[in-house]
Formats: sequence, structure tokens, C-alpha cells
Amino acid sequence: MFAPVSPNSNIKKLVLLLLVFSATLIGWHQLGGADRDFRVSKPDWRFAKVDDSSQGGKTEVEMVQSDAGASVSCSIVFAAKYPFCEIAIHTQQLGESIDLSGYHSVSLDIDYYSPSPGERVRIYLRNKNDAYTDENDPVSYKFNAIEYSPGINQGPVVIPLNSFHVLSWWIADYNIPLEHAGPDLSAITHMEIATGSYVQEGEYTLTLKSMTFHGYWITEAELFKLLMVIWLAAAVGFLCYEYWSVRYNFLVASQREERLRKSNVTLSLQAKKFAALAERDTLTGVRNRAAVQEWVSQAVKQSQRYHRDFSVIFIDLDHFKEINDTHGHFCGDEILRDFTLLISEWLDINDVLVRWGGEEFVIFCPDRDVKSVAELAENLRYQVEIHEWVHGVKLTISAGVAQLDEETYNELIQRADDALYKAKNGGRNRVAISSPYH
Ligand code: GH3
Ligand code: MG
Ligand code: MG
Repeated sequence: MFAPVSPNSNIKKLVLLLLVFSATLIGWHQLGGADRDFRVSKPDWRFAKVDDSSQGGKTEVEMVQSDAGASVSCSIVFAAKYPFCEIAIHTQQLGESIDLSGYHSVSLDIDYYSPSPGERVRIYLRNKNDAYTDENDPVSYKFNAIEYSPGINQGPVVIPLNSFHVLSWWIADYNIPLEHAGPDLSAITHMEIATGSYVQEGEYTLTLKSMTFHGYWITEAELFKLLMVIWLAAAVGFLCYEYWSVRYNFLVASQREERLRKSNVTLSLQAKKFAALAERDTLTGVRNRAAVQEWVSQAVKQSQRYHRDFSVIFIDLDHFKEINDTHGHFCGDEILRDFTLLISEWLDINDVLVRWGGEEFVIFCPDRDVKSVAELAENLRYQVEIHEWVHGVKLTISAGVAQLDEETYNELIQRADDALYKAKNGGRNRVAISSPYH
């Protein structure tokens, strides 16, 4: 057996659990639990210097490498159309790319010494895509670009990655279709930190102290989607659980009911058996006095209401004590059994033979008048008289008969008993008829 649990309390528990779980996850996310940082550094990345010599420029550049990054010093000379110098950062394996689309910002710590204060540097995140990239053409890698003024010793600046844009001259030169015109950070092969678009002739020093991308293992939007899925799954799971538990309880209840029904059937069979045993006299097997009490009082009332005949015969075995005394109690018992068998043969189906007590018997005869029962009693007396009994001695009975009048059931029996008394007094082995009560 299990204590019944209401579905309501289950729902409350589940909702509380989900609320705590969701709040914990959101709190964890807010506190930076899902933060993911990616630092661009050696040895995974190579740092190189690049100048404008490939475009006919005369800018000279020198590079100093450090663990954290690199520093280039250059003398910008106006010879190329767009004079510049830069730090190029490549993945170690040529052509290998990295997906930065899952990051939301980049921290850049750059010192920039320029002839005029506040000059800007250009940052390019170069993306490879077969739709527009030709490996033999370094310019065909998409320019995800931004420009800003890093100053000197200003510390890291956090730049959102969605503020990067694609250079319009590159889109025009390579005839890039609309679907590829937007920023794309999914396959970055290299990055560039270059002097600004508008440089002067003179000395520049560009130092990259650190470059770190920031992202989430799971974004806030993804987290909310995940929570929604968990809530939905929990709701579906809960409904399934409720359905199965209702089904299970129903099955258990049905089985219990079936067991009860079976045991009730057994009990009622036993009760009937006990009742049958209680109704019967154990020696002779005929009904006992208590068993017919209810039936007789009803039968008497019915007969009176519908003016139908109802009669009784009160029988007593003559000198039975002597039989016991002479032949023993067992022989007496045998004779009593034999007696009931003998007279039962002569009774109608409606006649009810009852052992009234000891060697006294009453026969209730519905729908018989006094004449009919007197004849029956006389025949019984005769049959007993001529019967050959086990003890080999003649046996007789005396009987008193009475027909129901306007009287009670006890009064009727009493009259039959009185008639029997008369028969005894008259010399036994005879039938006496009771005169009507009134
Ligand atoms: P009467 O003709 O006046 O009826 O004489 P009686 O001896 O039959 O009457 P009495 O009332 O003096 O004795 C009845 C006897 O019936 C006494 C008792 O031992 C015997 N008796 C009653 N019930 C049983 C029984 O179940 N088995 C046996 N063997 N004897 C019984
Ligand atoms: Mg007697
Ligand atoms: Mg007797």
C-alpha cells in the first residue's frame, strides 16, 4: 500500500524545482559561469610584419616579438598609393581557420605611437569562404574591419564584434553578392592590426599587448530556449506520469476489488453452509425448531390473511425412555433417525417436518385442513406401528392435530400439544384432534 499523493502537491513540487533550477541557471549565466574566452597568442598564432613594399611602397618596418604579442616600428614614406605597416597574425597551419562567430566581443590592448596624437588603427579579421576566396589572392579574404584610436597605455578596450563591418571597396572590387556582403567570422584564417587609413610620413610604433575574444558557452537566448524545452519536457513528463499513475492506481483498485469479491463469494458460501448446518438437527437431519420459527409465523399470518388452511401434527414417541434404558442410547438415536426417514416418505412436498426437541416432532402442513392432517397422522401412526425397528420391538407414537384458527402461532402449537396430551392420556398409540380455538 502507498499513501495517496494528490496531483496538486506534485505539480507544486515540480514547479518549485523548475523555478529553483531556472533561477540557478540564469544566475550562473549572469555571474559569468558560461563565459568563454579565447586569447590570441603564441604558439597557436604566428605574428609577422607586413609593409607596403608589395604595392611599390618604401615604408620600412621592424618587428619585435614578445610572449604576449608583437610590436612593429615603421617609418611611413609616401611612395605607395596607400602607405602602411602592420602586424599580421596567422594560424600556425597555413589555411587553417577558426570560428569566432560564437564570440560577442574582443578585448584589445594596443599602444599606438603616431606623429599626431589620437590617430586610429585598423583591425581586420579576415574570413575565408570558397564563395569568394581564392587562395592565391590574399586580398580575396573578407575584410571584417573596424578602426579605433587605442592611444598609449590606455589598457584593454572591449569592442563588440557586431560593430565590425565589411569594407565597401572590397565588396565592390570582388563583386560580392548580397548574401555574402555582411560580416562573417565563421572561418577566420588571419587578423591584421595596421596603421590607420590616413597616415602621415613619420615614425609609427604599433604594439599589440593582448587580444582576447569573449563569448559564452551558451548564450542568454540559447539558455532561455533550453529552459523552455526543459519546462515543456517536464510538463509532458508530468502528464505522462500522472496518466500512468492513475492507470496503475486504477489497476490496483480493480485487483483489490476482485480479491474482495472473491473472498465475499467464499464467505457467503461458508455462511450459507453454516446456516444450513444451523438449520438442521445434527442427529436426524430434519429441520430444528429455531430454523422454522420465522417461516412458521409468516406462514400463519399469510394463511390467515388469505383464508387458507394451515394445520399441524404434534408427534411424541411412546415410552421412548424405556428403549434407551433397555437398548441403550445409541439404539435410541438409531431409532430416531429411522423414524424421521420413515415418516418423511409419507409427507407432501409442502409439509415441513421439524424436530421439536427430544423424541417430539412437529409437522407443519400448509394448505391442509384438520381432516387431511388427521388422516396423515393416522397413517403415520399406522406406519410406525407396523414398521420393523432395529431393536426388534414394536414402537408406537401418539399425535395431536390442530387446524389454524384466529389465533397466534404459539396458540396453535399449544392446541396441538394439548391434543397430544389427550392422546397420551387416552392410552397412547393414537391421534387426537384439537377442537377449534373459538
Ligand atoms: P411418554 O410415552 O410419556 O412420552 O414416555 P417417554 O419415556 O417417551 O417420555 P419421557 O419424556 O419420560 O422420556 C423421553 C425420553 O426420550 C428421555 C430421553 O432420554 C429420550 N431422548 C430424548 N432425546 C433423545 C435423543 O436424542 N437420543 C436418545 N437416544 N434418547 C433421547
Ligand atoms: Mg416426550
Ligand atoms: Mg415420549
